[in-house]
Amino acid sequence: MAIIKIQKGTKDILPEEMSVWHFMEEKANEIFTKYGAKEIRTPIFEATELFARGVGDTTDIVNKEMYTFEKSERSLTLRPENTAGVVRSFIENGMHRLSAPIKLWYKGPMFRYERPQAGRQRQFHQVGIEVFGIKQPSADAEVILMAINYLKALGLNDLTVELNTLGCPVCREEFKTKLKAVIKPYLSNLCEDCQSRYEKNPLRLLDCKSPECQEIFAKSEIQAVIQGDFICPECAEHFKTLKEYLDTLGIKYERNKLLVRGLDYYNRTVFEIKSNSLGSQNAVCGGGRYDSLVKNLGGEDTPAVGFAMGMERLASLIGKIEDKKTTAFVISNDVKEALKLTEELRAENITTEFDLSNKKFVKQLEKASKTAKFAVILGEDEISQNKVTVKNLDTAEQKTIERSNIIKFFK
Ligand code: ATP
Ligand code: MG
Repeated sequence: MAIIKIQKGTKDILPEEMSVWHFMEEKANEIFTKYGAKEIRTPIFEATELFARGVGDTTDIVNKEMYTFEKSERSLTLRPENTAGVVRSFIENGMHRLSAPIKLWYKGPMFRYERPQAGRQRQFHQVGIEVFGIKQPSADAEVILMAINYLKALGLNDLTVELNTLGCPVCREEFKTKLKAVIKPYLSNLCEDCQSRYEKNPLRLLDCKSPECQEIFAKSEIQAVIQGDFICPECAEHFKTLKEYLDTLGIKYERNKLLVRGLDYYNRTVFEIKSNSLGSQNAVCGGGRYDSLVKNLGGEDTPAVGFAMGMERLASLIGKIEDKKTTAFVISNDVKEALKLTEELRAENITTEFDLSNKKFVKQLEKASKTAKFAVILGEDEISQNKVTVKNLDTAEQKTIERSNIIKFFK
């Protein structure tokens, strides 16, 4: 019969890769908890409307990448990111009534219909943070610190933090007008995507990867607008203070005026963390401030800032973590005795296995030496004398002890 294959752009996370995933998940819990964040888990699917409004209908995510389907005349979408879902939950559960800041973290699968390539899947995982209720740049700083310290805890150091400010809706509007004016003469030469961005979301023009468009944007009059400082005094002050906080902590960053991020909801701070040892898909973390999103989704006006990291990209940087060997392998031809002893050891948190197929002694010993640190031998003699022989499989050292002392031996 024909075998059914895995879907394009999706991957099994196999048992031998699991140590790395557990490591990423445990470190996330450990580091984010230190900052006072609590985990939240929201559903994998939500109303399509949530993403259209929450991510923005001028974005690639909403326009091209969503897995949308109908059920009972409702349009549903597999979440392409988790910020919109977390904000929905924040509003629905009245979390604005809690004392600010409210710090939430999440991890889980996201779904985007994009062209699969190295570092880009259709189902992938993100781990992220959202901090609600603080408009001061101290929250931006803390969010960036959480990202950096999490990456450090994973042993990743070869990273670059890119930082930019998008201003507020008021000063950004002015920038958009100037940008459109200076690009207008070249409009017909831009790629199809940029032609539609030009009207719908001109900031996203800066994000275009097409070499033809890049060449146009490199022109001096266009660069003058891009590189010029457009932000209003309040936004400038916010950005300056954030940079001072980062400087105080010795956090290195690079200003990237082309960094606009893919989502519509950002204002003021945006940042990305790139790995210097990944290929073209080298962004491991993207984040920023989104002060209008909670209100736009029907909640109380609540400032917020957060980030998301791609866990497959992190995993590829962490490399392989060898599985720990089982501590004990019980060797016996008496299945009942073996069952009893393995359960006793497991009850004391000692990882233990025995040969479920009850093969010959030598075969069991062979298997034990491949997978375990100690063989715990229960032969006929041991059973009759109420003893057990423990063999260190690394050193081949062995000794026979009282059956009742076995737990003590391992402790
Ligand atoms: P890009 O410009 O590369 O498409 P993005 O702006 O869509 O990135 P975000 O939505 O900010 O990415 O997601 C945050 C992080 O999630 C990215 O930096 C990346 O590490 C990871 N990520 C995003 N899309 C994918 C994907 N399709 N496969 C694997 N990881 C992804
Ligand atoms: Mg994308």
